[in-house]
Amino acid sequence: MAESAGKKKVVRVDFAFRRELAEKVEGNLASFCYQCGACVGDCPAMTYTDDFNPRQIMLKVLYGLGEELIGDESYLWECTNCYNCAERCPQEVKPAEVIISMKNMMADRGQYPPGVEKVINAFLTEGRTVAMNPAIDKNRARFGLPPLSPVPMDEILILIEASTGEGKES
Ligand code: SF4
Ligand code: SF4
Repeated sequence: MAESAGKKKVVRVDFAFRRELAEKVEGNLASFCYQCGACVGDCPAMTYTDDFNPRQIMLKVLYGLGEELIGDESYLWECTNCYNCAERCPQEVKPAEVIISMKNMMADRGQYPPGVEKVINAFLTEGRTVAMNPAIDKNRARFGLPPLSPVPMDEILILIEASTGEGKES
């Protein structure tokens, strides 16, 4: 319960959100969080943004505050996937993985920032998360490196189909 203008505000656990998250890979790990705060010390997203805090995010997961976590303009996209939190956590919670699972929930709803859409499109068309451009090979040449070889898109598409279940025969 939370105080609001003299009244107690009841916070209801969103079990549907928690169930959906638990079905994602590593989505259920927040259940082991005992709120020690070790994950916050080296978190770059916390250093550079006002409202980001992996310990608080795990607490919100435990409370089932889905709307606050995966609503429009979610601050979870600030996570850099650096995994510092996972290395520090004594409970092996891997907050980074829990956050990725919630990003996947948002992606399932078609809810992601334009920068992420660019990465998705580059990956689906070129098999790379950064679209190729002549400057990349030019910079590589400066360091004596050969041009990047083309990505085998047919193999990438097989992996995407296998992981999403699309294209499987029933
Ligand atoms: S370090 Fe692990 S157990 Fe501690 S608050 Fe962070 S996620 Fe929870
Ligand atoms: S992976 Fe963990 S430490 Fe790194 S930005 Fe995300 S929450 Fe912070």
